[in-house]
Amino acid sequence: MMKRRQFLATAGALTVAAGAAAALDRDPTTAGMEGTSRAGTLLPSRTPMGPRGLELLRMQEDLRRALKKPVEQRKWVMVVNTKKCSGCFACVVACMAENVAGPGVTYRTVPEQEMGDYPNVSRIFMPTNCMQCDDPPCVKAANAKSPGAMFKRPDGIVAIDYTKFRGKKVVEAAQKACPYTAIYYDDGKLWTEGTPAPQPYEAAPSSEYSQSWHRTGGEPPSGSGRKCHFCLHRLDAGMIPACVSTCDGGVTYFGDETDPHSLVSEILRKHRGIQFKADQETEPRVYYLADDTEATDNLKTCLACHQGGV
Ligand code: SF4
Ligand code: SF4
Repeated sequence: MMKRRQFLATAGALTVAAGAAAALDRDPTTAGMEGTSRAGTLLPSRTPMGPRGLELLRMQEDLRRALKKPVEQRKWVMVVNTKKCSGCFACVVACMAENVAGPGVTYRTVPEQEMGDYPNVSRIFMPTNCMQCDDPPCVKAANAKSPGAMFKRPDGIVAIDYTKFRGKKVVEAAQKACPYTAIYYDDGKLWTEGTPAPQPYEAAPSSEYSQSWHRTGGEPPSGSGRKCHFCLHRLDAGMIPACVSTCDGGVTYFGDETDPHSLVSEILRKHRGIQFKADQETEPRVYYLADDTEATDNLKTCLACHQGGV
C-alpha cells in the first residue's frame, strides 16, 4: 500500500507535470504575463511554479539535450520580446556580476525610447547585447590587427582570446567594425577605486571561456576588448545565460535553433522574429519578436536610436 508521504510526493509530481503540460500548450511568448498585473488586475498563477519557471525548466532541458550533440551540430540563438520588458535592468546587473565587469564594460544594455506626444505617449525598452553574427565584421577587423584575437565558434558564438585581443588600437578597430556597439574596452578600473573600502568582489575572478581570469593588476581581461558571449562558461556547465535566468518578465529566450523541439524553435515558428540591421548582412543570431504593427514600429524607433550609437 502507498504510504502517506509517497502519496503526497506522487500527487505533487503529477500536479507539476500537468501544469507543465498545460503551460507548454500555451503561447510561450505571452505565458510569462500571467500572474502579473499589466492592467492592474491580479491574475491567478496557473501552476505551482509559475509559467516563467516552467519556461526556464524547458530551456534548461533544451540546453542539456543540445550539449549531448557535437558542438558543430548546435546553433545558439537568443529571442527577445521587447513588449514584456519593464526596463528593470536586473539582466544588466546579473550580467555584470556574472562576468565581473568593471566601469565602462556592459555586455548587456537596455536602452529606452519615448514615443508620441502627451497624452498619447509610450516608452519601450530594448535589451541588447552582442548579436553573435554569423558573418562578423569585428572578427576580420580585430584579426587584421592581432591574428587570433577573435573567432567564430562552430556553435555560433563569437569568442575572444583575451591574451590577443589587447590594446586600445586593436579593440577600437573591432569596435568601429561592429554595427551594434557591442564591444567594450576594459581599462582595468574598479568601481570602488578611491573609496574608503574597496570591495573584495571586484577582485574576484571571472570564469569566462571556462578559465579563471583576474582583471586586477593589469592582467586580462583588463586591457582587453570584451563583449557578451552568451555566457559560454555557463552553457558549458549546463546553465542558461545569466540574463535569461534573471529576467522575471520572461523577455528573453535562449536555445538551440537546430533542435525543432526547443522552445526557441517553437517561438520562431509561431512568431515573426526580425534581425536588427539585417541590411548590414552580418547575420545576427539574436531575434526580436515583431508580430504586429505596433511592435514593428517600436523596433524601428529603437533601431533609429541604435544607429545613433547608443
Ligand atoms: S554584434 Fe558586433 S561584436 Fe557581436 S558578432 Fe556582431 S559585429 Fe561582432
Ligand atoms: S531583466 Fe528582463 S524586464 Fe528587466 S530590463 Fe532585463 S530584459 Fe527587461
